[in-house]
Amino acid sequence: MNISAIKESNKKETRIAITPQSTKKLVGLGATVTVPKNYGTALGFSNEEYEKAGAVLQKTQKAAIEEADVIVSVERASDSLYKGLKEGTIVISLLDPFRELDLVETLAAAKVSSLAMELVPRTTYAQKMDALSSQASLAGYTAVIKAADKIAKSLPMMSTPSGTIPPAKVFIIGVGVAGLQAIATAKRLGARVEAYDTRPVVEEQVKSLGAKFVKIDVGETGQTEQGYAKALTDEQLEMQRKQMAKFVAGADIVITTAQLFGRPAPLIVKEEMVKGMKAGSIIIDLAASTGGNVAGTEVDKEVMVEGVKIIGLSNFAGEVAKDASQMYANNVANMLEHAWDKEENKLVLNLEDEIVNSVLLTHDGAIRDERVKKAVEDNK
Ligand code: NAD
Repeated sequence: MNISAIKESNKKETRIAITPQSTKKLVGLGATVTVPKNYGTALGFSNEEYEKAGAVLQKTQKAAIEEADVIVSVERASDSLYKGLKEGTIVISLLDPFRELDLVETLAAAKVSSLAMELVPRTTYAQKMDALSSQASLAGYTAVIKAADKIAKSLPMMSTPSGTIPPAKVFIIGVGVAGLQAIATAKRLGARVEAYDTRPVVEEQVKSLGAKFVKIDVGETGQTEQGYAKALTDEQLEMQRKQMAKFVAGADIVITTAQLFGRPAPLIVKEEMVKGMKAGSIIIDLAASTGGNVAGTEVDKEVMVEGVKIIGLSNFAGEVAKDASQMYANNVANMLEHAWDKEENKLVLNLEDEIVNSVLLTHDGAIRDERVKKAVEDNK
């Protein structure tokens, strides 16, 4: 079975989907692995390392795609690439299925079996394949590093003969995987950290990292079976903003990570809240690519609002692309290993398997995920 990585269509994507380390694992399964020439050189993975791990360097991408049984990438490829695939080709990628509705239709029409890495179930067993978590964790780290770099203030307290510098105050909104890593990173850098999430279950986790959990009463909140937050009503969001404004105003750095699975991110920090912050403060909006938690966020731009800098990147994990690639490539290789049939020596899409059933977005011409299918139909 031929597993091939392709060059990322999005030229800004810095991550890759197969590393020399994951090549070894895939070759060990019995697969043929091909990668484009210089696929990992920007990240320090040489062609020789890939070859040593057992990969074949592609002569041309066109020929590689023609021979591939499985095509892997970080982000989606172009429509024309998918349309040109032979029926039954397996595609593994982050496909952003709730927003890329036309793409989902293209994949189904091309009779491609697509595995969307976003749809890995949030179970203990599937953690090693959970790309959302691996990338979110690095994004949380990057958010703090970016803020520390941009703010004209030190994060730790410093007592020196020349004077005492108070620690920076960091307020983190949304304490999922990214938020927890942001708390841990900010604490390590010596900041004073406060955090809030609508899911009360995270209070203990926040405290265990040495941060303060901010209590805000917005009435009943909850989470889905998979652990994702349920959306607040407009009234609840307004209550949240009112009670949160003073914590935002008191912070030197605000990091927002609030997301709702499969839906646009909630707008939490309104313009007047931004204006209520001290000049020189920084806001990092990790939800920028799904609409943003902060009024005024512009993807991949630094926006100044009355002296407050708002930064929202489309790809926070891509800032630490080498580690993000190692993690993502491991997630993909673990997925392939999970679905690999040792007797037949190939990937077998067993629809009875909980993980395969969950990630398999399109197969045999059909859209399999009911939520995505409904979104596609509503979009027509
Ligand atoms: P996410 O990226 O969907 O959202 C980030 C955080 O934003 C969440 O904690 C959410 O509760 C919060 N949020 C949403 N609306 C908010 C609002 N209005 N105000 C403040 N916060 C708001 O979340 P995630 O990081 O993907 O994690 C979701 C859950 O899944 C967590 O409970 C996490 O522990 C769990 N998880 C479980 C596993 C596993 O068991 N294998 C793996 C990863 C994550």
